[in-house]
Formats: sequence, structure tokens, C-alpha cells
Amino acid sequence: MAKDLTGMPFEQIEAFVSELGGKPYYAQYLFAAIHAKGVDDVAQVTPLPKAFRGTLAERGYRIERLHPVEHHTDPDGTAKLVFDVGDGQRIESVVLTDGDRRTLCLSCQVGCRMACRFCATGKLGFARSLGAGAIVEQVYQAAARCGRIHNVVYMGMGEPFDNTQAVLDSIRILNHPLGLGLGQRHITLSTCGLPEAIRRFAQLCWQVRLAISLHAPDDALRRRLMPVAGKVPLAELLEAVREYQRITHRRVTFEYCLMRDVNDSPAQARDTANLLHELNAAVNLIEFNPHPGCGYKPSDRDRMHRFRDVLGRTGIETVIRYRRGRSIKAACGQLGAAWLTDGASHGNSASPRDQASDP
Ligand code: SF4
Repeated sequence: MAKDLTGMPFEQIEAFVSELGGKPYYAQYLFAAIHAKGVDDVAQVTPLPKAFRGTLAERGYRIERLHPVEHHTDPDGTAKLVFDVGDGQRIESVVLTDGDRRTLCLSCQVGCRMACRFCATGKLGFARSLGAGAIVEQVYQAAARCGRIHNVVYMGMGEPFDNTQAVLDSIRILNHPLGLGLGQRHITLSTCGLPEAIRRFAQLCWQVRLAISLHAPDDALRRRLMPVAGKVPLAELLEAVREYQRITHRRVTFEYCLMRDVNDSPAQARDTANLLHELNAAVNLIEFNPHPGCGYKPSDRDRMHRFRDVLGRTGIETVIRYRRGRSIKAACGQLGAAWLTDGASHGNSASPRDQASDP
């Protein structure tokens, strides 16, 4: 059976190299060849003895790569890569450029089980989770086409804590000094808010940034927008966040997608401020992207600014994220809209993850 080396953290490679009787430094050669040098075939990891390379091939070890089947660019600098991940399924990643810095918004699942009502991915349903190799490959392929990636956000298609092992392994790989060496502070993991997973994540004490989808300041509205909220009341979610902060002392960002006359009133801004005031919290306000079959509409800019100002006056750092990459359907909502309209297989997330900063 083929074993994908691309998705194995360094410690796992070390372990099997030792089992196969290889020297400890073989693991270093192998990991660096895959994650720093872009080698595609174990036979080409030439610092390793030929006999050991032969053993790897015989045992079914492979270096699996992803290849984009489409690459689109928007005049605003946003790029979208579409990947075929096998079995007819596709995912998308979006590269957002800000000056000379690039952020990759990547996918961790084909589709999503969480079914948030404002998200096209939620409408597409769930097909399967990606392995760690397919997750890190999105970073390497984006860098090869768009230039160095400075930040990675797990905000594309899928819920990271519904694919926790692969997501954590991918972070270990991206962070490893023999590979890309991407600092943990340059990685953001965004969740719809699963308390047990947040508690377990806290135990790792990593410096990875945590973002949580809030989208409503009360349970009734949040349940309407996010089915997961039916199982997780806000009180329980915020208790998990408090525990996370007691352990890690790290700020948490709350994502709030503004939809006209749904969750964008000044009163709701005040309720949001009251909800978060005792936390070390920042808020990203996201401009909603409409898509077919979804009746929500974006807030107008005045209401967005008022919402931001109400939060800002209470001392909560609040930033508006405007839509980017609309002409190539790389803005959230637009991406899912394209897949829904075309009746194609799973496309990218329409989750509210646009990253343009408040001008
Ligand atoms: S917003 Fe995120 S968690 Fe919700 S359905 Fe979309 S991808 Fe899944």
C-alpha cells in the first residue's frame, strides 16, 4: 500500500527510518528533500544510499504532490488555485497579496459538514477530509506560482477541528525548520467553535493564532445561522475560550460576517461587545458575499462602519475585511456560488474569509 511521505511529520519519518534500519540523519535528508527542495520521487533523494531508496520504494513510500488544474488572478492581486485531489473532487486555495506579503487561505476538507447557512461550502455538503500532505501541498504549489507565502490561514473549505489530526500534522510540517520553517505566529486556525477541540488545542500551547466564527451575539440567531450552535450554546463556547486563554495567554479573534438586517444593528454590536468584553479578543468584521440559493444580503458600508465603531469604543480591536478577488470568484461566497451554479463537484469555501484590510 502506498504511503504518502508528504503528509508525515518529521517524528513519524524518523520512526520508520529507524524501523527500516536507516541512520537517524536519513530522516533529515528525506524531510528536507520533500519540504525544502521539492523532490518528487524517493529515488531522487540522492544523499540517501541507493539501497535505502530501494527499500523505501519497495515498502510503498511515495512523495505525493498536488497539481493545480486552474490558476486565476484578479486585478486586485488575488489569485485562486483549483486543485484536483482525486476521485473527481476539487478544492481551491486563495492567495491574498498585501504589499509584498502573501497570505494563503487553504482548504482542509472537500466540502464541510457544518452547514453554516451563509456559506456555499455548507450547501455543497461534505465529501471527505484531506490528508496533511494535500494541505501542505497547497502552500508549496501556491508559493511556486505566486511567490513566497508569509502567512497561512486555515479558513478555506472545511472545519479544521473536524480534521484535527491532519491539520495539526500539517502545521507541524510547515513549522519544521528543515522544511518551510513557517513560524507558528504566521499560521491561523479558524473554527466554527467546537469547545472540546479548543480545550485540546489549548493543551498544545502553540503560538498558532486561533480564530472563532461568532456571527451573532445571541444563541437564537447563532442557531439560525450556524447549525453547530444548536449543540454548542455561546456560554459553553466562551467558557472553552476562557480556558484556552488561561492556558495560552493568547488573544482570540472572532469572525463576524455582517448581513443586512440580520446581525448588523448597533444593538447587536453592543451585545457583541458585552459578550467579549472580559476576553482578550479582537473582531474581524467580514463583508458578506451573496451566492445562489442564499437570501442574505451584505450590510451597507455605513452600517459596517457603525458596527465597527461601537465595538471599537469599548476597546475591542475591530477590523473590517472587505471582499477581494470577486472577478475570479475568489471572494468568499462567490467561490461557492460558482460551484453551486455549475453543478460541479465540491469547490472552494464560501465561508466569510476575505482578508482585505479596512482601508
Ligand atoms: S463557514 Fe466554515 S464551518 Fe461553516 S460551513 Fe462554511 S466552511 Fe464549514
